[in-house]
Amino acid sequence: MTDAQLSGPAFDLTARQIAYFSMEIALAKALPTYSGGLGMLAGDTLRSAADTGAPIVAVSLAHRRGYFQQHLDAVGQQTESDVVWSPETTLPSAGVTISVAMQGREVLVRAWRFDVVGTSGHVIPVFLLDTDVEGNEPWDRTLTDHLYGGDTYYRLCQETILGLGGIALLHALGMTPEVCHMNEGHAALLSIGLLEAQLGNTPLRDATEADIKVVQQQCIFTTHTPVPAGHDQFGVDQMYAVLGHDRAAAIERLGCLHNGLMNMTYIALRFSRYVNGVAMQHGKVSQQMFPEYTVHAITNGVHAATWLSQPFQQLLDKEVPAWRHDNQYFRSVYGIPSATIAEIHHLGKQRLFATIKERTGVELDPSVLTLGFARRVATYKRVSLLLEDPARLAKIAKKLGGLQIIFAGKAHPADKAGKGLIRDVFAAAAKGNTAKLRIIYLENYDWELGEQLTQGVDVWVNTPLRPYEASGTSGMKAALNGVPSLSVLDGWWIEGCAENITGWAIEDLDNEVHEAAVLYNKLENSIAPMYANKAAWAQMQRHCIAINGAFFNTHRMLGQYVSNAYFPASASVAVTDQPQTPEIETPQSVLA
Ligand SMILES: *Cc1c(COP(=O)(O)O)cnc(C)c1O
Repeated sequence: MTDAQLSGPAFDLTARQIAYFSMEIALAKALPTYSGGLGMLAGDTLRSAADTGAPIVAVSLAHRRGYFQQHLDAVGQQTESDVVWSPETTLPSAGVTISVAMQGREVLVRAWRFDVVGTSGHVIPVFLLDTDVEGNEPWDRTLTDHLYGGDTYYRLCQETILGLGGIALLHALGMTPEVCHMNEGHAALLSIGLLEAQLGNTPLRDATEADIKVVQQQCIFTTHTPVPAGHDQFGVDQMYAVLGHDRAAAIERLGCLHNGLMNMTYIALRFSRYVNGVAMQHGKVSQQMFPEYTVHAITNGVHAATWLSQPFQQLLDKEVPAWRHDNQYFRSVYGIPSATIAEIHHLGKQRLFATIKERTGVELDPSVLTLGFARRVATYKRVSLLLEDPARLAKIAKKLGGLQIIFAGKAHPADKAGKGLIRDVFAAAAKGNTAKLRIIYLENYDWELGEQLTQGVDVWVNTPLRPYEASGTSGMKAALNGVPSLSVLDGWWIEGCAENITGWAIEDLDNEVHEAAVLYNKLENSIAPMYANKAAWAQMQRHCIAINGAFFNTHRMLGQYVSNAYFPASASVAVTDQPQTPEIETPQSVLA
């Protein structure tokens, strides 16, 4: 850190070498600009960039009506309401308005600047694009309202604004970044913006392979899910209607269609010099999905200072203050007595239970083993695996002298199946609750609740269907706070699980009933006995922080992006450099 960073101009945009594009970014608890893991990861990445002084700017949309607030009635039926915010009364303007030719007309786009400020005062400016501009048609003014809202036409318009509008904005601000990072395929049209800039007044139909190479040298693409619905596709007619003939024809001619559809993932792949998945196994799964491209892997992380409980932060500031700029110092918690770690964790548990009492009136017992399960309610996440055999669960709870399970999560408003899963948990809770077994579902899983849950429960549970969990990050937040995971061996957990040390694995048995049985066996025969042994449990809590906290953080992750993706020492990093992970088979449904 230099004095200039502390006292001089906050930042010189033209010196920023990397532009990070993401459809969602979790910037502040009060801003509804994220839906789940993707937005949290984006926000955590930028918070680490701010802490470590990385030369990054970011681009996203304003999402003026947000992702939604979740309401659950007595039977778990979800309804939604908008979360309206007004950037103009909250944030400074970027100072420029640009125009994007789309839908056969010009759409004006302005931007608001959110500053992510690091521990030493380094600023990462985030530009939130906004089409609610006077002069735009009423429909166009709504295009930056709803994150993941509307139909495919609305979505394609949003992705056009993100990609093409984002590049136009950066250029209008005098920036020509060396690297543009597409955080998921939503941002893939930035490549078309770069190609247009490369060609100047020449139409895209005259673009050569050499022009594409120039764009490729600038682009990095991170793919985030093997779930087919996570890869946006649009009909060719829609593509022509929104993008216009020159761009649409170029996308067709350059081989970016897939199965006759405009496919954002394939556009991103075509135009990027470096592509990666978000955990070692996800890199391999993605490699099988896209055999014609080289897919690397950089395992996700979380921003430690965002997710670590306040009492833990105070403890570490006293014992290992260097953790704030260098998370490798988490290893040093081995110098702290494990009993102290256990005491500090207990404060988080009490805080969570106080919140639950305040919100629901339910009083949980802080001396009882408590499991947490919270995430977006998507079918592959299998929210109800834990409740597969209610009788067995009740028996275990009785034997242990008590068991508490806390659920939370939102289903996408259009996801009928997901909403049904929430009702299923409510039904199971209504039937299953006994004096010894408490099952509750908390409303409106968001940043605040995610924080309190990962800091406060005893065991974090994750039961996705393999291989659909690309990474998962909530278990990393838990680990940082001394909370072990009980999880299916998928995503990050293949790398993070040391059995009986950082948590427990649910092996892949290709069968829900068998996997649930493994889960119950571990709960009864491994987890409960250890929980009853205070000293052993405290040691495990310390292992979680020292081993997994020290690695699964965005400081480490961003460092890997810088040295492997943004500015690699050698232009091509061999895919064979990847460490060994267990062999996996990718289901045909993923490859289709
Ligand atoms: C961390 C987080 C997520 C992502 O969790 P996964 O484990 O990746 O499913 C989603 N939503 C919120 C509110 C979070 O804090």
